[in-house]
Amino acid sequence: MKAVVTGGAGFIGSHLCDHLVALGYQVTVLDDLSTGSLENLVHAQGAPGFRFVEGDVLDRGLVDSLIKGSDVVFHLAAAVGVYNIVDNPLRSLRVNLHGTENVVEAAAAHRVPYMIASTSEVYGKNDANGLKESDDRIYGPATTSRWSYAAAKGLDELVAYVHGVESGVPCVITRFFNIVGPRQTGRYGMVVPRFVDQAMADEPITVYGTGTQRRCFGSVFDVVPALLPLLETSEAYNQAVNLGGHEEVSIKGLADRVVELTGSRSPITFIDYEEAYGEGYEDMQRRYPDTSLAAQLIGYRPERDLNDIIRSLVEHRHAPGSVPEPA
Ligand code: UDP
Repeated sequence: MKAVVTGGAGFIGSHLCDHLVALGYQVTVLDDLSTGSLENLVHAQGAPGFRFVEGDVLDRGLVDSLIKGSDVVFHLAAAVGVYNIVDNPLRSLRVNLHGTENVVEAAAAHRVPYMIASTSEVYGKNDANGLKESDDRIYGPATTSRWSYAAAKGLDELVAYVHGVESGVPCVITRFFNIVGPRQTGRYGMVVPRFVDQAMADEPITVYGTGTQRRCFGSVFDVVPALLPLLETSEAYNQAVNLGGHEEVSIKGLADRVVELTGSRSPITFIDYEEAYGEGYEDMQRRYPDTSLAAQLIGYRPERDLNDIIRSLVEHRHAPGSVPEPA
């Protein structure tokens, strides 16, 4: 079986490549190495049939030629990370809109089952206790970069969905809720690797805002094995499916936990959003997933709690050859 993974050199994508290689798939990665890295692929490189293609999902011809003749495509290439989105709004929009369009059009044309990675950002400011796939999206103005990202990912879902319905080609949309694990970089904003790196260097831990905002972090090791089963479950087709963890924590609580688990001497500091992200940034207070649809479809049950997730990052930073990343 041949799989194409766009964004395969990224954090989630590279774990998916390892998983597919272990299952005997011949994997082709398309990645422009903008936020991903070849180091993430050291385990997959050299596997039979593994191929890395450095290229852009905006290159329609390239995307089409890679997807043609494959058995399944996982689209994870995207502009991600709050700093990246805020610093490169136009490029982010183009990649997230047209990159997905290229993948979906090629998959539908060549009748290749496809999974499109979406995000809990699509719910916007809806802070319901247990967001369900059918829940409302609540956005601020499109001039705020965060909402333009959410809107673009929402359109990606629509493009995937409409093509799935019209073509009859299996299509699944996955909404990832704050997924964390080894290989995730804090460089573009993600809070858990940032706090772990800061704690391990005994540097101040930077809590933005009051730290009362809450998130529910999920492990990449729980989420990645769920992707192929979803594409093999016809009841999941043309649906968005939430994937994430179950333990909710405030960001101040996260900072405390990281300090505790690393035995760090880091002080915890509070920084205004404006200083952290520039003017006009809007955070969301809470984001907690209802994953009962995934449970019903494929028996999804996340097993890793927050301590497991933090420890997996700490171990990775201690691994031979691993260099702590700049915060
Ligand atoms: N955050 C923080 N310090 C950091 C990076 C992020 O306090 O160094 C906060 C951020 O403002 C948000 C939460 O942590 O409230 C999660 O941020 P992340 O970018 O990881 O995910 P998202 O905001 O997309 O849920």
